[in-house]
Amino acid sequence: MTPVLDEEEIGILECIKDVQTDRGFHIRDIIKKAKAGYGISRSTVYEIVGYLEFHGLIKTNSSGYRELDEMQAYSVMCPECDREIPGDDYVNEKGRGVCEDCYIEAHQKIKFADPVAVRSKKLFRKQHGFEGTEGLTELQKELYDFILTEGGATPDKISKLFGLKPQETSNQLALLRHCELVKLRKMGEEIYVVPYDS
Ligand SMILES: [Zn+2]
Repeated sequence: MTPVLDEEEIGILECIKDVQTDRGFHIRDIIKKAKAGYGISRSTVYEIVGYLEFHGLIKTNSSGYRELDEMQAYSVMCPECDREIPGDDYVNEKGRGVCEDCYIEAHQKIKFADPVAVRSKKLFRKQHGFEGTEGLTELQKELYDFILTEGGATPDKISKLFGLKPQETSNQLALLRHCELVKLRKMGEEIYVVPYDS
């Protein structure tokens, strides 16, 4: 069974990743770091380390040090959208394991659609029998085709190529996003618009 880790448990996991060397880690260092970084008490550290050991995420190596077993699967619950996501897919946001979508939402300067809008737009199109790019304007279709062909592009690049003002690009992309034709993905420091199914 894959454990679903909560915020404090992720905090401990992050501490371990910071402190761990080739030899492993010592619980003393985790206690120090967890207290300073996350305000987690010593007894809670022991409790969580025990829990992680129970699930095989931490094991004791041949030199008697504890170490993180990176191969063990775990999930986290995104505190923003309550979705369960695989442990290697979360982004550490000040000790909170948020999903990539929520991370991008929180960090982008242009505010994109909220999930309610996505649902209603999708429902609206479904009720009207629209599929794929049906019901989109010519510009929206062109933008979508471009993103499909390129596999992804930054809003900035799209603005330049299509001669759109950034706000206009953002509006058009928000609509494509509502229709679940495209989504955002952070690659390095840049945010890309990529096909929804990629
Ligand atoms: Zn989320």
